[in-house]
Amino acid sequence: MNQWVYLNGEYVPREMARISVFDHGFLYGDGVFEGIRAYNGRVFKLGEHLKRLFDSAKAISLKIPLSFQELKEKILETLRKNQLRDAYIRIVVSRGEGDLGLDPGKCPNPQVVIIADRISIYPEKFYQEGLEVVTVGTRRNLSSALDPRIKSLNYLNNILAKLEASMRGAAEAIMLNQEGYVTECTGDNIFIVDKGTLITPPDWAGILKGITRDVVIELAREDNIPVEEKVFTPFAVYTSDECFLTGTAAEIIPVTKVDGKVIGSGKAGPVTCRLISRFRELTQREGVPIYKKEEKDG
Ligand code: PMP
Repeated sequence: MNQWVYLNGEYVPREMARISVFDHGFLYGDGVFEGIRAYNGRVFKLGEHLKRLFDSAKAISLKIPLSFQELKEKILETLRKNQLRDAYIRIVVSRGEGDLGLDPGKCPNPQVVIIADRISIYPEKFYQEGLEVVTVGTRRNLSSALDPRIKSLNYLNNILAKLEASMRGAAEAIMLNQEGYVTECTGDNIFIVDKGTLITPPDWAGILKGITRDVVIELAREDNIPVEEKVFTPFAVYTSDECFLTGTAAEIIPVTKVDGKVIGSGKAGPVTCRLISRFRELTQREGVPIYKKEEKDG
């Protein structure tokens, strides 16, 4: 079956989904994006993802040429057009075509792309055995230079960290901020569990405020697990009882080794396992319905 891509108001087959080489998204990484998941016929946390997209666009003075509601409808339509119920959705808004100079003022037409694809799920083994991660030398972007809260097309900071991790044979990289505090991984937020308390860096430490991170905090509070948003150093990770990462693609994934040190028991811990099962249950029942059938089911 053909894959249809939404491109500025039209649906085109994937081979025809092309953007100009003069687009400043391509030339300079000037634009914003979102990654969203659909589970079981429903789009999970669609409103939250759209809000973050619009906030990111605002922060870089990029005008999205669709309203919140229009974009929401286009996303659902793209899923229907591709007959998907479980999917990974990528929204990209780039600055659009300009000249070879930096000036965004010369880019009158921001480009909107919606790609709905089948998900490639991580092997179940990762969720049981956990990941091995390393702390890398590449620091997370300074908030005063390029605020990590902006989900921009400029991911070179994260890519450099990912390269370091790959070169050291690790699946992910823990990035520190300028002060040496843990921020996040290259595409996921980080949590530790210390004596029953769930701890994650606050957004001002220099992180992208993950939607999955917010869901996990909410689930933990519902379970009466104490949650603290505070900064911590790699030492706190090494000596924690449990550690896990969160993100739209990875969901909740345990970390069992950091910089060669085994975390807790070396297996996914009880708090992590509980949150994984609660998260999976939530994604199966909550979200914006794509098709009429789910609408009726409520
Ligand atoms: N941090 C970074 C740098 C990311 O790219 C992502 C993935 N979008 C996350 C954290 C996790 O955010 P979310 O849970 O919203 O996918």
